[in-house]
Amino acid sequence: MSSLQREIEARGERIFTLVDQHPESLFSKAGFYQGMMALSMRDEHFKVQLFRFVDVLPSLRRSSDIVEHLEEYFAGIRNGFAPFIDTGVRLARIVPWVSGRVLRWNVSGMARQFIAGKNPNDVMKTLRKRRAQKIGFTVDLLGEAVVSEKEADEYAARCLDLLDGLGRETRGWTDALEKNSALFPVVNLSVKISALYSQMNPADPADAIAHLAPKLRPILRRARELGAFINFDMESYVHKNITLELFKTIFTEKEFKDWPHAGIVIQAYLRDAEANLRDLISWAHARGTRFTVRLVKGAYWDYETIKSRQNGWDCPVYFQKPESDVNFEELTRLLLKNESIVTAAFGSHNVRSIAHGQALADELGVDRSRFEFQLLYGMAGPIKRALVEMGYRVREYCPVGELLPGMSYLVRRLLENTSNEGFLRAKFSENVSADELLRDPKELVRQNRANLSETTIPAITEDRAPKNGASIESPPGDIYENSPLVNFVYQESQEKMRTALHEVRNRFGEKYPLVIGGEKVWTDKLTPSVNPSAPKEVVGYVAEAGIPEAERAVKVARAAVDKWSRTPFEERARLLERAAAIMDRRRYELSALEVLEVGKPWAEADGDIREAMDFCRFYAEQMRQIGRPRLTQHVPGEESYQHYWPRGVALVIAPWNFPIAILCGMVSAALVTGNTVIMKPSEQSIICGAMLMEIFQEAGVPPGVLNFLSGRGSVIGAHLVDHKDVDLIAFTGSREVGLRIWESAGITRPGQRELKRVVCEMGGKNPVIIDSDADLDEAVVDSTYSAFGYQGQKCSALSRLILLEENYDRVMERLLSATGSLRVGNPEEPGIMVGPVIDEAAYKRIQEYIEIGKSEATLAYQAKEVPPEGYFIPPTIFTGVKPNMRIAREEIFGPVLSVIKVRDLDKAFEVANGTDYALTAGFFSRSPADIDRAKAEIEAGNVYINRSCTGAVVGRHPFGGFKMSGGGTKAGGADYLLQFLLPRVVTENVTRHGFAPEETPEYRDEFLWPQR
Ligand SMILES: Cc1cc2nc3c(=O)[nH]c(=O)nc-3n(C[C@H](O)[C@H](O)[C@H](O)COP(=O)(O)OP(=O)(O)OC[C@H]3O[C@@H](n4cnc5c(N)ncnc54)[C@H](O)[C@@H]3O)c2cc1C
Repeated sequence: MSSLQREIEARGERIFTLVDQHPESLFSKAGFYQGMMALSMRDEHFKVQLFRFVDVLPSLRRSSDIVEHLEEYFAGIRNGFAPFIDTGVRLARIVPWVSGRVLRWNVSGMARQFIAGKNPNDVMKTLRKRRAQKIGFTVDLLGEAVVSEKEADEYAARCLDLLDGLGRETRGWTDALEKNSALFPVVNLSVKISALYSQMNPADPADAIAHLAPKLRPILRRARELGAFINFDMESYVHKNITLELFKTIFTEKEFKDWPHAGIVIQAYLRDAEANLRDLISWAHARGTRFTVRLVKGAYWDYETIKSRQNGWDCPVYFQKPESDVNFEELTRLLLKNESIVTAAFGSHNVRSIAHGQALADELGVDRSRFEFQLLYGMAGPIKRALVEMGYRVREYCPVGELLPGMSYLVRRLLENTSNEGFLRAKFSENVSADELLRDPKELVRQNRANLSETTIPAITEDRAPKNGASIESPPGDIYENSPLVNFVYQESQEKMRTALHEVRNRFGEKYPLVIGGEKVWTDKLTPSVNPSAPKEVVGYVAEAGIPEAERAVKVARAAVDKWSRTPFEERARLLERAAAIMDRRRYELSALEVLEVGKPWAEADGDIREAMDFCRFYAEQMRQIGRPRLTQHVPGEESYQHYWPRGVALVIAPWNFPIAILCGMVSAALVTGNTVIMKPSEQSIICGAMLMEIFQEAGVPPGVLNFLSGRGSVIGAHLVDHKDVDLIAFTGSREVGLRIWESAGITRPGQRELKRVVCEMGGKNPVIIDSDADLDEAVVDSTYSAFGYQGQKCSALSRLILLEENYDRVMERLLSATGSLRVGNPEEPGIMVGPVIDEAAYKRIQEYIEIGKSEATLAYQAKEVPPEGYFIPPTIFTGVKPNMRIAREEIFGPVLSVIKVRDLDKAFEVANGTDYALTAGFFSRSPADIDRAKAEIEAGNVYINRSCTGAVVGRHPFGGFKMSGGGTKAGGADYLLQFLLPRVVTENVTRHGFAPEETPEYRDEFLWPQR
């Protein structure tokens, strides 16, 4: 055993001895809270329900609501809590206000466990008590989620007030150790950076810093005047780089360069924590002034792992708990070794981590008065006391604020206290032995690795989450893995995007041909495609097809059907996968093209390319699933096999709003199923169409199998729809054109072989309902995003926000200021959320609707400033909208939101379902019963609960609507390819004179290929 380990054990045991002298359970508050936590640790389902109930409770205003929620959350729970519920519910039926109040009081008690005071005055009581116990403080203002600049400004003002109050109330207080006190001001404020700017976008650190620095400077100045300390807390990974950058930028400014009382947090659970700490240390040397680092493991582990899995990102946190512990110790060493420039504050309740810090400081000769331990209010009281007794400086992190804004903090603490992996639970709840608790985490990492079989090790050590395992039982979407989104948190991704934008700009004005039968075809007309942010800029030109080219395309496509339909589906699937790989290689370039040709913000453009790749890979896998003739049923003496033939020639007509994804989705589905294709991109996104053609050509699509026709929908589109040799039309676009196609395709023309199949996806008038108990932090942000993201030009976009009378005012107040804070501008700039609408016609049409809105309803908000050039329409909100008004019924396809006030939830569902459309819908609620109702009753192809109603992911959210939104097909779903196929069953009597083979193969490939 190393001498350091020996010393750590000695220190640890000493702490445990001191802790045991003042026995206290994990939770210093007994009674209700203790009982709840104990049950949570035993019963995972109960824990989920309890935390959800705790989360919703502060927003419930009536006692009857509280009791209803109690019943909904805990119905069916059969554990020690059941009698309590039953009694509560019985009592509630008699006197609802009593039980409601009792519950609220108890849950507030839970919160009071972790929240040091409701307001600055209130917190002083706690701080004085702690002072008597020789414990210092850092105060944190609760209220992390700000949805608007108004709320962010309020947070900044509250920070200033708090500083003033603390300065006043602690005059004359001195540092408890009275040694090296200059390093540790008494007044210490922890600031959450995300609460100071509502529009932080990871892709745009410069914008964030430009907005944050002016808000921080007055706080820093006041702190300096008062001799106080300011700490930047660290939040989720998405804000990390900006927080670090901001810290370095502002404390390099002349005014603050020589000010040592600034600190920042490093989270040891992050894989890049060491690189960040090293960078900060070199920065500090260059700056020439010391600063502080609070070293913690990190509070967002669950969130980071969920988020990165959802988006296919490399997970930024370690997967094994001991890995975080090891990293914490390594970073402790780095901090203590650089003590000359950085003051360490160790934020941990883990006695091993603490003892390690102590022992290492001694080994390195760092005096105990030159660093401190920080612990959270309401947790690990005996450890704080032990550390004080041992002569260390202890500071308590004291959150201040009301319960509602403090909810996310409270839930993080509850999670931490009940975590299987956590030290506190192990020590105070499960009484794990001191030996075990003080073990070197490196040993545990080694042991864990050895215990894992070779096949599972990559899942732990590699960054990427394990692949979905496909099996018969797996959900259909699990047959493949979605491509990751680009994570614009990384500077490298931002730079690649900037370079790509530059390169695409350099190619502005290039000309692209039609492609028919594998040949480039030029016509005497070129169609320009312009940048909607700057319509004078021509992104490129494409040859314009007329009727002769359309005829030629049908002819070659028809001629190619025979061979292509008999090409093994495996080969066709591989074509799609090669196309996806090319898109992956050209990913930034294609995204940049979308920014410039159709005005998509960065992340939206990237999402579109991801979706295109996903379509290719998903349909390739899907085709493998359904490609072979499959036995329909086991029956003696007879064999029946069902399989599919392609329909023939497919015409694909796509919109401009997902210019590569939707075009690629329909084309790839048609191709992989063995149809030949004529693809016609939207007139507004022809360069994207030309790029997709290039990609499929490079991927090796045979001549004639895919043909690229750019031209006027009213000319070639209409001609092709009516063509007797076109067997299938896959269309996504407006209702007007969709219905025309549907009708026209129903007419059988002379010489036509097949009944035409139409795969038709049209628009929506999508509602979102916000229930009275919804989490408004989420509901407001997601609703503004759903309504105004990509200028409301998604068919899934929110256009009718349905609010209950009960919370109308609260929602509107936040919604209006949140919308007023959105960044409107040229989407070439990273972080812009609202760019231009697609073209002049759209601009005029939307303006007309705004005028209609003004005459029908009340204009509640319209942004004032938009760029002077380009087709920019400011985000616009109408209130006083009635369900029968035009702005509530007709699809506007722009950044215009109608707000409809209704009496209650019954009416809300009625209004939501009361249009011609049924594409997407959203519902925000924390009532399990209301959520169940929404799931059952809302008429929409895609119903989204407690999230935005846009952003469908292939395989995960098969997308498409019904009523006047579409024919009921689901792009990116398991049954989509069937639309492009004709099912066929071949039955053979295999009995000969009463004798039949005993076994029937599950698949037969002999009659797979059509002779047509
Ligand atoms: C005063 C103070 C201030 C803090 N400020 C911040 C802050 O600004 N930002 C912030 O993010 N956190 C902050 N924290 C840290 C955080 O809130 C937790 O308190 C801390 O991570 C718990 O660590 P521990 O050493 O006390 O406990 P331990 O029980 O030793 O560690 C628990 C931690 O291990 C990590 N972990 C859990 N499971 C795994 C796993 N499977 N794989 C890898 N790692 C895992 C997590 O970080 C978890 O919180 C602060 C903590 C304190 C005490």
